[in-house]
Amino acid sequence: MSSKKQQNTNIINENNIGTILTFGPFIFIPLTVLLFSLLIINTSNESFKKNVEKVEQNLHHTHRKTIKAQVESMVNHIVYHKSITKQDMKKRIKSRVNNAIKIAKAIETKYRDTKSKKEIQEIIIEALRPMLWNNGESFIWILDFKGVFYLSPKYLKHLEGSSIIDFKDANGKEIIKDEIKLCKNEGEGFLWDTFTRPGFDKTKQFKQLAFVKSVGFYDWYMGSSEYLDSATKSADKILLTSISKIDAMNSNYFYIVKRDGTMLLHSAMNEMVGKNIKSYKEGIAKNIYKMIYDIFRDNNSGYITYDWDNPKTKKDEKKYTYIQAVPNSDWIVATGYYESTVKDEVAKQSRELYEAHNMKLTNLVFGSIILLIVSLFISYFVSRFIKKSFENYQEEITAKAKELKVLNNSLESKVKERTKELMQATKDLEKIAKTDYLTKAHSRYSIMEVLKHEIHRCNRHKTILSLAMVDIDFFKRINDIYGHDKGDFVLVELVKLLKLNLRDIDYIGRYGGEEFLLLMPDTKIAGAKSTIERMMKSISEYDFGLDKPLTISVGLVEYEENESIDIFLKRADTLLYESKENGRNLVTI
Ligand code: GH3
Ligand code: MG
Ligand code: MG
Repeated sequence: MSSKKQQNTNIINENNIGTILTFGPFIFIPLTVLLFSLLIINTSNESFKKNVEKVEQNLHHTHRKTIKAQVESMVNHIVYHKSITKQDMKKRIKSRVNNAIKIAKAIETKYRDTKSKKEIQEIIIEALRPMLWNNGESFIWILDFKGVFYLSPKYLKHLEGSSIIDFKDANGKEIIKDEIKLCKNEGEGFLWDTFTRPGFDKTKQFKQLAFVKSVGFYDWYMGSSEYLDSATKSADKILLTSISKIDAMNSNYFYIVKRDGTMLLHSAMNEMVGKNIKSYKEGIAKNIYKMIYDIFRDNNSGYITYDWDNPKTKKDEKKYTYIQAVPNSDWIVATGYYESTVKDEVAKQSRELYEAHNMKLTNLVFGSIILLIVSLFISYFVSRFIKKSFENYQEEITAKAKELKVLNNSLESKVKERTKELMQATKDLEKIAKTDYLTKAHSRYSIMEVLKHEIHRCNRHKTILSLAMVDIDFFKRINDIYGHDKGDFVLVELVKLLKLNLRDIDYIGRYGGEEFLLLMPDTKIAGAKSTIERMMKSISEYDFGLDKPLTISVGLVEYEENESIDIFLKRADTLLYESKENGRNLVTI
């Protein structure tokens, strides 16, 4: 019953394993593919979210970099243009003087032979007098090496004809002497001096650059000069115009502010040019000016953020601005971008990202489905392969089990057979041990056991037991005369005879070589005696093939209650001895 149950469980388990092996790959492989796909889709979703978050950050970063680069290139442009202002000024003044000298030389050459020196000088002076620049601020002057003024500006005309050799500029420099020295030694050269300016505050000094050159006749030299600030002003004007032209093409607008807050250029709000930002839009602008000034003071650059009207949207918006001071100048250049610009771009880029992400997602889902289908096919083949292998394995196991069963069965029957044989052998051995090999009577060992048992029975059940100790008379002689075989034959035949005279319940055992014990249960000594005598008679009458009839001597005793086996035997032995002593062929009781 229990083994049958076990078998059922085994079958169930095998079926389960079969099912698992068949359907396992169908579940495991597609599930893995599905999980993997979901993981990829999830990762892609996460990265999309992160990218969208980054867009705004990146755009701000890009815009910040852009405005910085724009400002830096603008500052470089300005620095370069400001650096060439002085060179331009030098070139300009020099060419004016050279042109004037050319004219003077031409006139001198033309009239050298026909007119007097004085007349020619007069023609030259009047020819050059109208040569004026910067609203008459710049002009050509003529002096001789003695410092006599020949051609002067209009406001100094009263000095013409007299020497101004001791003339000093606002710094006390003897500039006429310096000019004469330069022309005499070098032929030409530039000089810086400081002058008051007609039409301006007389206390104010203006830096002026002069070029002087020896004319080559009449000991004359000519010169022309220009105020640095008017040169700078006109250069700056040209520069700002060119910048505003460039800037009009940019999406971000520039503005250039002077240290004092004056707006020099504002490409989006032209109406602000010339105004001071300190006086514009009180609260905010003042704050901006402070921010700008902080950067300007450190002759530095940096980002500032503030709210400002966006000219495009006409709304107040957050504006990110980069500012840089123009080195060695009181200008500051700025450009920036509005929050809405970034927001618009964020929206646009996010939309593009979203579209790209959607497309990617579609592809991923599509790919996953294909992968899933492929995985199902693979699962089918894997499952088939596993199932086949499992079945083969099962078959093999069954065959092996059968073999084992057969082996087991044969082993079992062999064991049974061997056990049977062994039992038989034991029985045989027992029999051998219990039976005397020659006479087939009880062995000494066996008859002693029987005796013990019978004594026990006597003591317990108060029964009777008679014991006869038998010894063949003159047996040695038989051996001696007829040989041992004959002796053995006599022994066998004797036992047969003894048995014939005993009951089934009686026992006969070989006690020694030709000594026997006869046990007669439930037999009184008297009954036993007559049995013994009948035995002795039949023995003596039996033909053993001997020259004389065979006789036996017997000691016969009846058991006395609680007598020990040794004493019981000893009594029989003593009585046997008595029979021998008394002439043999006797039974003594
Ligand atoms: P007694 O009348 O005094 O008994 O004289 P006996 O010759 O029989 O003397 P005893 O009983 O002392 O001798 C027994 C002899 O029996 C000695 C031995 O050689 C012989 N014998 C003992 N066992 C065997 C046997 O199995 N076969 C043969 N052939 N002879 C045996
Ligand atoms: Mg003897
Ligand atoms: Mg004897």
